[in-house]
Amino acid sequence: MAVLPAQEGRFEYSVPVLVIGAGACGLTAALAAKESGAEVLVLERDAKPTGSTTLSTGLIPAAGTRFQKALGIVDTPELLADDIWRKAKGETDRAMVEVVATASGPTIEWLADRHGVAFKLVEGFLYPGHSVLRMHGTPHRTGEELEGALLAAAGRLGIDIMASATATDLFAQSDGRVTAVRFIRPDGVQETIGCDTLVLACCGFGGDKEMVRREIPEIADAEFWGHVGNKGDAVKWGRELGAAVADLGSYQGHGAVAVPYGNPLNWGVLMNGGYQVNALGLRFSNEVRGYSEQAVEVIAQPGRIAWDIYDEARERPILGFADYEAIRSLGGIRKAASLRELAALLGIPAGDLERTDAEVNLLREGTGDDRWDRSFRGTQPLQAPFCAVKVTGALFHTQGGLVIDIAARVLRPDRTPLPNLFAGGGAARGLSGPSNWGYFSGGGLLTATTLGRIAGASAGRLVAGADA
Ligand SMILES: Cc1cc2nc3c(=O)[nH]c(=O)nc-3n(C[C@H](O)[C@H](O)[C@H](O)COP(=O)(O)OP(=O)(O)OC[C@H]3O[C@@H](n4cnc5c(N)ncnc54)[C@H](O)[C@@H]3O)c2cc1C
Repeated sequence: MAVLPAQEGRFEYSVPVLVIGAGACGLTAALAAKESGAEVLVLERDAKPTGSTTLSTGLIPAAGTRFQKALGIVDTPELLADDIWRKAKGETDRAMVEVVATASGPTIEWLADRHGVAFKLVEGFLYPGHSVLRMHGTPHRTGEELEGALLAAAGRLGIDIMASATATDLFAQSDGRVTAVRFIRPDGVQETIGCDTLVLACCGFGGDKEMVRREIPEIADAEFWGHVGNKGDAVKWGRELGAAVADLGSYQGHGAVAVPYGNPLNWGVLMNGGYQVNALGLRFSNEVRGYSEQAVEVIAQPGRIAWDIYDEARERPILGFADYEAIRSLGGIRKAASLRELAALLGIPAGDLERTDAEVNLLREGTGDDRWDRSFRGTQPLQAPFCAVKVTGALFHTQGGLVIDIAARVLRPDRTPLPNLFAGGGAARGLSGPSNWGYFSGGGLLTATTLGRIAGASAGRLVAGADA
């Protein structure tokens, strides 16, 4: 994994736009570059492209889309930008927030109308930090469907994806211009391909345990549910090229991964008035601030687990989500006619669970203040049958990365762009600020798709002789 001096001469094979990584970012970048008229090749380490994108729920927030308008939902890029900004406590790059928010709606419509991604708006609950309904997902709400649709779109445009090709080294001139990429095949054979521009879409460093321990020790011992092939290559190459990196302590965690199944339990059950208790039957946090920061709260509990407690009214909006149906079909949802029976099923003290539920019901009526500053006002008491799922906290993907500008050009610390290098998605600095609390629901695929599209279009413009 290195940046080596550019070799003289021509390469046997060279492409105008080379993309590393075939997840949502790399594929949207490839689509945009191809549409701009540039020839593009995607290098992907896996035999079958998956990425964190396939592992995800595939939900993308976007503002002002025709899907929202059809349901009478009023949303604007400004409102989305303000929501992202608020979640990050203002500790991120406002210009990037605005660019991403502005690009979000057009990107969803472009993917739907031009590239056949079958989006529908998620209804029934708001995700943490969202002022209005704005999550767009494929019919079964899976990243697998999203990745499949993007691969199909790439196939229709004749975009070449070279699978089983792990990029190992970049070749660059002294000014940072990347001239070629070396990659290795599973049989050990190495090949080099020349490029006029390079888009880094190889996500973050969640798959490099040591790097996670160094940069984000608080989550290093949690399970990593993202793509293990994402080993921080963009940051490693970027540093050698003199690029700026930022917010490496930032990440998307998740505080409700079903145990032992590994599927994320939809946050809707909590947003609509459910709550989490630990093995003692006690609440321990404000569950609706966000699912990312909840990961460390859950793994700090006895046995590193918690139980999501809800009822069938809260279950209804998430029926049909593939992740929920998987947990259900595997027997992960416990149901009981009373809290006492539920506690017995879960092996937690019945009196404490009943007391917790009674305390929450007082908060629902507006009596007293929550110790953890959560408002339950206006939510209805849980009704039998009661439901519970055992969950733990996990790392989904890292949010720190290469600093880019509004054209997705990778920047040096003095904010001058490297000559021909672009990045997006998990390879680039996200919009979450420095830590775990700033992750905006859906921020991963939001930046993967919008910045991927911008990076591909910018690379296409550059090879056509225009400014990126
Ligand atoms: C369980 C789970 C649920 C999630 N749900 C959501 C959600 O609903 N909404 C949301 O917004 N986000 C969600 N996320 C986060 C989201 O999946 C990521 O933010 C997003 O997929 C990142 O896209 P990407 O294209 O940057 O990276 P990826 O999709 O991970 O793609 C990167 C690709 O680069 C390849 N690669 C890496 N290094 C190399 C190399 N050296 N050479 C060649 N190829 C390489 C990898 O194999 C991979 O295919 C979830 C994540 C997880 C784990």
